[in-house]
Amino acid sequence: MLYKSTRGGVSNLPSMEVIKQGIASDGGLFIPDGIPCLSMDDYRMLAQEDYREKAVKILSLFLTDYSQEDLTRCVHSAYNPEKFDVPDIAPVVKLDDKLYILELWHGPTCAFKDMALQLLPHLMVTAVERTGEKEYIVILVATSGDTGKAALEGFKDVSGTHVVVFYPKEGVSSMQQLQMITQEGANVHVVAVEGNFDSAQSGVKAIFADRQLEQKMRQKGYRFSSANSINWGRLVPQIVYYVSAWLDLLKAGEVSEDEFIDVIVPTGNFGNILAAYYAKRMGVPIHRLICASNRNRVLADFINTGIYDRRRKFYKTVSPSMDILISSNLERLLFELADGDHERVKAWMSSLQVKGKYSIDAQSLRRLQEVFWGGYADDGQTLQAIRSTYHEYSYVLDPHTAVGKWVYDEYRRCTGDNHKAILASTASPFKFVGDVLKAILGQEAVDARDEFELLDILSRVSGLKPPSALADLKHKSIRHTILCRQDEMKDVVVQLLKIDEV
Ligand SMILES: *Cc1c(COP(=O)(O)O)cnc(C)c1O
Repeated sequence: MLYKSTRGGVSNLPSMEVIKQGIASDGGLFIPDGIPCLSMDDYRMLAQEDYREKAVKILSLFLTDYSQEDLTRCVHSAYNPEKFDVPDIAPVVKLDDKLYILELWHGPTCAFKDMALQLLPHLMVTAVERTGEKEYIVILVATSGDTGKAALEGFKDVSGTHVVVFYPKEGVSSMQQLQMITQEGANVHVVAVEGNFDSAQSGVKAIFADRQLEQKMRQKGYRFSSANSINWGRLVPQIVYYVSAWLDLLKAGEVSEDEFIDVIVPTGNFGNILAAYYAKRMGVPIHRLICASNRNRVLADFINTGIYDRRRKFYKTVSPSMDILISSNLERLLFELADGDHERVKAWMSSLQVKGKYSIDAQSLRRLQEVFWGGYADDGQTLQAIRSTYHEYSYVLDPHTAVGKWVYDEYRRCTGDNHKAILASTASPFKFVGDVLKAILGQEAVDARDEFELLDILSRVSGLKPPSALADLKHKSIRHTILCRQDEMKDVVVQLLKIDEV
């Protein structure tokens, strides 16, 4: 399997190169030349395997230049009992006769980003080694919360790598900050940046673009790389869990072999739902992909109108990991909608850059709406979905998943669609404990209590044990205290990696 850019400037690259480079040199995103499809016989056999074996099989269809041994080693390093608190890795929970929850948050940071970021470091190191390079990989991340911690846990103590995470001092929740500043590992650095997420993001971009620094790095035997969600190495592990979830339902007799299902995904950067789309293309019988936005509903509007317009107010919501106005991974879907016409993709992307908006043609819109349905929930509706799901099923949703639940109910009301459905659950409710308890018990229950008291309260309410990754933070010491301005970020990297020393 070879890869090309959505913008037409690069083609015929093997997956190792694609994973090392992250973004194509023409500014586009890498996509495979074709989507592999398995037969029902293959799927029947795969249904009998455990999560790791399913992962190796599916990865091997896309990452064909990796050996079976390498993929097996990578997958076992990523998905094991030390990292995940359930043997199934990504279990499916039945809510009622129609709706199943795919829990993607049993990894070390309690959000779904672990599913990809536990595996990516191993894929990256293997790619560097097998292509004969000797360099150390230095991962730079600007984070608004979940990605930074997931990258730290994923790259922690992976030999041949360093990771430096920059987070906005004012822009992350107290639990997220605590998760990062207590991070252990010999190769990890966490730095607070004055300002908001944009400052951290712009600073990282400037470091990536600094050719002089790159040269110095090379002399030291380092190369920068990025772990952000446009890297193909983050997307392909996400395809696995949609295939796995369907196979689990099949094996349990919850669906029949020719039965179509709907999939609902709470969406921000369009990565997670795009993986579900690829699973559909691989032969998983998915009827509709339901894209759930929060108040930053740029994607829901796009699906309904064919117009992508980011010139709008940005809202901070109770589902912060979906507070995004530029959904980078959408470019991959646009390529499919345009039937591989990269000139059209380029025109849309340049219109987005120059005018802040683009509109797709009628035919592309029709193709989009044949598969996708878009809806949104504001904060009030999100909290209401948490409350009603708790009262109806004694099941506690986190605010991101609750956006998905609200939109799913809306979808059924609007369309009368009656297929069984899988809702991708992207975070543990314990990670967003304050808003979850506010929804269930009211504001008074939350006021004047610290995060750790709230974990105990949610534990009583839900009957679940708080994830030790969160509860244990109480006793961890703070290891990362550097604070800098955006214009000092480069110097900080130079010092941390001792690039100036010979
Ligand atoms: C990142 C994230 C999302 C959004 O996922 P995308 O792949 O960006 O669409 C949703 N929920 C949680 C908890 C996240 O961390």
